[in-house]
Order: sequence, then C-alpha cells, then structure tokens
Amino acid sequence: MSGKRGNVVDPDAEADEDGSANVASVVHSGDQPGACAVQAAGARVSGWHQRLLRAKAGGGSPGEGGGRNAMRQRANGPEGPDGPGSSPRSAGSSTGSAQQTQAGRGPVLDAAQLEVLRRYGGEHDVAAGDVLFADGDVSYDLIVVLAGRVRIVERHGQPGESVIATYGPSQFLGEIGLLTGQRVFLSAVASTAGRVLRVPVGQVRVLMAQELGLSELILRTFLLRHSILTGRGSGLTLIGSRFDGGTRRLLEVLARNRLASRWLELEGSPEAEAMLRELDVPVGDLPIVIVPGGPLLRNPSSHELLDALGMSGLADTDLPGLCDLLVVGAGPGGLAAAVYGASEGMATILAEDTALGGQAGTSSRIENLLGFPAGLSGEELAARAALQAQKFGVRIKLASKAVSLSSDPGVHHVRFDDDDVITAKSVIIATGARYNRLPLDRLAEFEGVGVYYAATQMEAQACQAGPVAIVGGGNSAGQAALFLSRSGAEVHVIIRDQRLDASMSRYLIDQIERDPRITVTPRTQVTALLGKDQLEGVQLLDTSRQQTSALAVRGLFVFIGARPATGWLAGQLAQDNRGFLLTGTGIPQAQLDDTSRMPLFLETSRPGVFAVGDVRSGSVKRAATAIGEGSMAVRLVFERLQATGSAVADPPRADGTRRRADPSEATPAGSRQQVHPRLPRAKEQPS
Ligand SMILES: Cc1cc2nc3c(=O)[nH]c(=O)nc-3n(C[C@H](O)[C@H](O)[C@H](O)COP(=O)(O)OP(=O)(O)OC[C@H]3O[C@@H](n4cnc5c(N)ncnc54)[C@H](O)[C@@H]3O)c2cc1C
Repeated sequence: MSGKRGNVVDPDAEADEDGSANVASVVHSGDQPGACAVQAAGARVSGWHQRLLRAKAGGGSPGEGGGRNAMRQRANGPEGPDGPGSSPRSAGSSTGSAQQTQAGRGPVLDAAQLEVLRRYGGEHDVAAGDVLFADGDVSYDLIVVLAGRVRIVERHGQPGESVIATYGPSQFLGEIGLLTGQRVFLSAVASTAGRVLRVPVGQVRVLMAQELGLSELILRTFLLRHSILTGRGSGLTLIGSRFDGGTRRLLEVLARNRLASRWLELEGSPEAEAMLRELDVPVGDLPIVIVPGGPLLRNPSSHELLDALGMSGLADTDLPGLCDLLVVGAGPGGLAAAVYGASEGMATILAEDTALGGQAGTSSRIENLLGFPAGLSGEELAARAALQAQKFGVRIKLASKAVSLSSDPGVHHVRFDDDDVITAKSVIIATGARYNRLPLDRLAEFEGVGVYYAATQMEAQACQAGPVAIVGGGNSAGQAALFLSRSGAEVHVIIRDQRLDASMSRYLIDQIERDPRITVTPRTQVTALLGKDQLEGVQLLDTSRQQTSALAVRGLFVFIGARPATGWLAGQLAQDNRGFLLTGTGIPQAQLDDTSRMPLFLETSRPGVFAVGDVRSGSVKRAATAIGEGSMAVRLVFERLQATGSAVADPPRADGTRRRADPSEATPAGSRQQVHPRLPRAKEQPS
C-alpha cells in the first residue's frame, strides 16, 4: 500500500476541532547515557540509534553488519536464551498470568490448523541465519515455523541488538502491523536450519475473512504481542520537546494509531542530545521520528508519518472517479457505515483524519457493548472493525482530513487537506466530537505530557503508577478511574457536583465505590497546574467552602464533554446551537436545501448527505449508538439513491469474490452500472 504525500495544513490551525488538544503520551524513555558512533542520516537509519542503545542495553553483540534485506542472507546474532514463544524478559517466570501471557503470545497450532494454513501459502527450507523479514521491509508474510527455530530481533545487525522472542515448530510470527500494513520494525532470523510456511499478506486477508477460528486466534495473538511491544517501547523513536506543539501533535498520532513507539524528550536527555549530534539534526528541525529501517522524518505531518509506515491508504492513482458512498470519519459510526455499505455492495471509501477507531479507539475498556460480556478495548474494537472493512472491500484513506464539502445535482465532492477530492453519490458524516479542554494556564505546556484526554496503557505507563486526578463525572471518567486504579495508581476523581449518579452509569459507580484506590472529591474544580518541567500536582478549589489546596499527581485526565467536528462544513448544513448536525424531522423547513422532499431520518439538510454518531444533534453519545446509526444510515442512503435513480455498484471483496450469491445478478468486473437489488426498503424489514 503506498500513499501520496500531500500538502497538509498546520494541524494547530484549528486547535479547537482538529484534536491538537487531544494529545496522549507514548512510552517515555527516561534519560539514558549514550555513546555515539557516527553514521550519516540517510534514507535508512536503522543503525545509528541502535548503536546508541548498546550502552543502555549493557553491550551486546552487534551481530554482523551488511545488508539486511529480507530473506536473503545469513546472520549470526545472539541466540535467545528462551524457549519457543518466550521472551528473554519473561523466561523463568512462574506466575500464572505470565504463563498465560506466554501461551497467548506464542500459541502452538494443531495439525488441522496447519493444514488450513497450507492452503493459503507455500513451504520452503531455511538455513540458520536466514533473515525471513527485516525492519524497514514494506510488508511481510505470515510465517509459520514448521521445523527449527526463528528469533524475533530488535535492532538486528546493529549494536544493541536484542532478541525479543523465539518461536519453534507450529508457532507463527507477526503482530498487528502485518494486518494494518505497517512497515516492519523488527526482524525475523532463523536460529537453526528448518522449514517454514509462508502465507503472503494478501492471502492472510482472505484467510482472516474466511477461516473464523484461525482468524480469531491470529488476531488475539497479534493484539497481545502488539501490547507487549508497546510496553517495551519498541518500534518508532520520537525526539522532541515537550514544549513544542509539533511533538504533542505527533504524540497524538502515535497514540491514536496505537503505534509501538518511544519518546525521547529533548529536555535533559543526554541520549536525545547525543542522537541529534550524531545525526546532525539542528534543534530547529525537531521533532523528528526515526522509523526502524526506514527514513528519518523531520517534523512530519501525520500523513507523511503514516505514509512512511505504509499506512496512509489510498494513493491518488487509486481514487475512483465516482464512488457510491463516502464515509468521513472512522470512529465506530463511520466504520459501521463503511462495513455495512461495502457489504451491501456499494463502492465505499472511508476517509479518516487521525486513526481508525475514533474516540472509542482510545477507550481502555468498553464494557457496555452488546455481545462482549468481558468488555472490549478500543484498540480491539478498531482492529476488528478495520479487518471487517478490508474483508468487504472498503477502500480506506487514512491521515486525510476533510476540509470542505460541495455538491452538484446528485453528487457531492469532499476535498481533503492533501488536495484530493472524492466525488460520491452519497456522503455519511461521522466526524464525531472533540474533547473540551480546561481553561487553565500552562495547559498547552502539559498536554500529552501530564494532561491527557484518554486513559490507555500508554498514558498509564507515562504516569508510572503515580497518583492521578480525573476531572469529570461521566462514564468516560468512570472507566478511566477503574482502568488507572487497576494499573496500580491512586486515583482522585474531581467532580463539580455533589454526587456521581447525576452523570455516570450505576455499574461504574458501584465499582468505583468498592475500589479502595479511588477517591471521589465532590464540589471541587481544578484551578491550576503545578510543576516545573513536569506535572507535579494540581491546585483544587473546594467550591462549597471556597478553599484551595494542592494535590500531588503525575497525571491529570480530563473528561468534560466534547464539541462536534463540523467546522470543515463551514455552516453549509443545518446545525443546532452547539454546532451538532441536525437530521430528519429535526431540521427546520427553512433550512432544507430542497424543500420539495422531507429528509430521511439521519439525513442532513442536504439530500444524500447523512450524519451519524456523536456529530449528530440529539444522538446518544455511545459507541453502540454510533454503530447502530452508521449501519442504519446505509439503508437510508440506498433509499435516497433509489429515489433519485442512482445506481449502486457491487465491488469485489478483499478475496476477489462479490457479495451477490445469484450469478445472474453479477456485475461484470469494472462495470458500475447495475442498481443494487438486495437492500430492503425501510418499511419491509430492518437491516
Ligand atoms: C475515553 C473514552 C471512553 C469511552 N467509553 C465508552 C464506552 O465504554 N461505551 C460507550 O458506549 N461509549 C464510550 N465512549 C464514547 C464513544 O467512544 C463515542 O460515543 C463514539 O466513539 C462515537 O463514535 P463516532 O463514530 O460518532 O465518533 P468518533 O469516535 O469521535 O470518531 C470520529 C472520527 O472522525 C475523525 N474526524 C474528525 N474530523 C474529521 C475530518 N474533518 N476529516 C476526517 N476525519 C475526521 C476523527 O479523527 C475520529 O476518528 C468513550 C469515549 C471516550 C473518549
């Protein structure tokens, strides 16, 4: 997958709406002494920072240098001390949870599962030292070890090389980046002679769509490995100042896209300074992002960053002249709309500014989603939905911010910040809402580095189990409190009201009341942020007694509502007084673009343009609601298209098959003329 680098607007230009406020931290590396060996910054920079890390790692074999392109040469790096599926870190652990994690990260496939996989790939022998994939490779195959051992190596062939895991017979390699198309940041090296089964990535997508049991096992394993790698700070390295807006913007992109990474903070970090000297990067070029095996990026836009990782999606050459459905925003609402649209045979494009998953992607655990009694992390929801979208042939355009909408009879044009224009017969707007910020001095200084708008593993790590304060009394605040408490933190929930039950669901209140690590402080507001170079505390005002006090915390989590992401529409569509989009019968007649017909439920004031989820006026701000509305809107889109006589095509799925079961209905490849025959009308049956 290759994308285009376009002109990207300054993301701080619309600070209120584009999420520059919504920053979150990644693994924060502490100061490390670094010794530098010199290597010029070039197209591939996989070597230089690894050498610096050798001192930190306590030496270690550099392995042999030389080219490391995948699958082609011998390597004599260190043999991992562990057995199959284990890591040097966890080797010898005797705890139940460690064993479970170990089993989860390296499941052993049975004969039947191997037989299924053989149908999708081919086998070949490997020799000790063969590199099966290398950091910097654009993509990689799913590799199953049939005989012998394979090591997963970080900084392969470089000083500071370390073995992350070793896999043996009937175990498979890879993590979630294989499915998202992310550039490879680790290497796989055969420890011994053996034999492997390779499933090309295109076939993996087909397999994930067709082999349900295996697909579940692979997905769960990949997610677990990804979370372990995130905890290690593997992957990308960001160097930048906490005081710089560009650094905070990139922190958000890394966090929202759940990219394994570490941040070397410029201030007081000898390692960061040494790296910059070695690379000859002037401070004016910061922030920089180092992609293992890939380019050194200087203050990249989110599009440039995701493009360098191979994740930006549609290239300009892929843009169709006209699609049936364009969905803007890939939170739960947009993802659902895209999946339903494509599964019903519409040529569907899903465009997203920051990351698949939307707000829900930042949720540590969504517990009230039907069908998931143990809850579901936002990361898992996003990963599963993205897989579904791929399965049904949704074309995804990532790191693309919609900046304007215009319409001609029967078609709509959405322009993006990379200057691409997508023309569609119908548009579903699912751009959600952005978090409100506290009116505090020094807020920008601490956003992403002490003040957070999401509570995931990344933020929890950044707070290092120190005490934290949460502002807000809604469900998001409640979930964050429970999650952070489980991470070992002492949690203070600060609310303006006297009690939580005005705004929080009972199931969360009950858990909070039972949790000894959580304290609820009512009738209180945060009035100042305290700390010199990092957040050390907050000042509180007890509004009933008008007394101020200081509370020592490492993190302040803000969950105080949100504003709709509708600025890009420039007021063209009818809105309520808070900027949320009006739909259906809620739109005053005078504000309709076409007064001759009534808007359908979920249809905006412009025929053919729909709004779903949090961006819609009056919607219940919940993941399940957004999913429901996204799904429902597709049927309404079809009705509108039918009413206007527009055709709906039947695009192929990822596996090349088409949805229609009846061959007589099949549309010849490339033809986009046939009206879709299957969708029920509104009154016939629900979809
Ligand atoms: C921390 C947290 C925890 C939560 N927990 C729960 C829970 O447990 N249960 C529950 O039901 N709900 C929960 N919610 C609420 C739930 O996440 C939201 O209601 C839901 O995500 C709304 O979905 P959406 O698709 O409408 O919008 P969003 O999820 O906000 O997605 C909108 C997407 O549009 C993109 N976008 C915005 N503007 C543009 C543009 N101009 N161009 C392109 N893309 C754009 C954004 O980047 C974003 O990805 C939680 C929310 C948060 C923040």
